[in-house]
Amino acid sequence: MSRTFSIIKPDATRRNLTGAINAVIEAAGLRIVAQRRIKLTQAQAETFYGVHSERSFFGELVAQMTSEPVVVQVLEADNAVPKYREVMGATNPENAAEGTIRKLFALNVGENSVHGSDSDENAALEIAQFFAEEEIV
Ligand code: ATP
Ligand code: MG
Repeated sequence: MSRTFSIIKPDATRRNLTGAINAVIEAAGLRIVAQRRIKLTQAQAETFYGVHSERSFFGELVAQMTSEPVVVQVLEADNAVPKYREVMGATNPENAAEGTIRKLFALNVGENSVHGSDSDENAALEIAQFFAEEEIV
C-alpha cells in the first residue's frame, strides 16, 4: 500500500463536483483515508506550488487555488501516485483520456479540477503539509 496527496480544486468545488470526483476516485480502487475542506491562504498556495514560482502562470495559479474552498485528501492504493495520475488524466483536459477526472470535469489547463502528487517523495511532503499522521485512517 502507498499514499498520494490529492486536492479537489476550486473550479470543481464551485460546481458542486466533490462527490462526483470522489466517486471516480473510489471506483478506481483508491481509498480516501483522510479528507478536509479548507480555504487555502495565499501563503499556503504559494508554498504548495513553489516549484512553479518562476512560471508565467504562477500568479494566475495561486489566485485560482485561493478563489474558493478546496478539498485536501490522502488516497491509498497499491502504487497510489501513478494510479491516481492515470485516474486524473493529462494536465490539459484536451489531452486527457476518456473517463479520466480531467476529461470528465476540467474546464481548461489551469482550472483542471484536481491535483495529484508526482512522486512518492512529494506525496509524503504534501501530505505532511496538511495532515497529522493520526488523521490518516
Ligand atoms: P498538479 O500539480 O496540479 O497535479 P500537474 O502535475 O498535472 O498538475 P503541473 O505541471 O504540476 O501539472 O502544473 C501544476 C498546475 O499548474 C496545473 O495543474 C495547472 O492548474 C497549472 N498549469 C500548468 N500549466 C499551465 C498553463 N500552461 N497555463 C495555466 N495553468 C497551468
Ligand atoms: Mg504537478
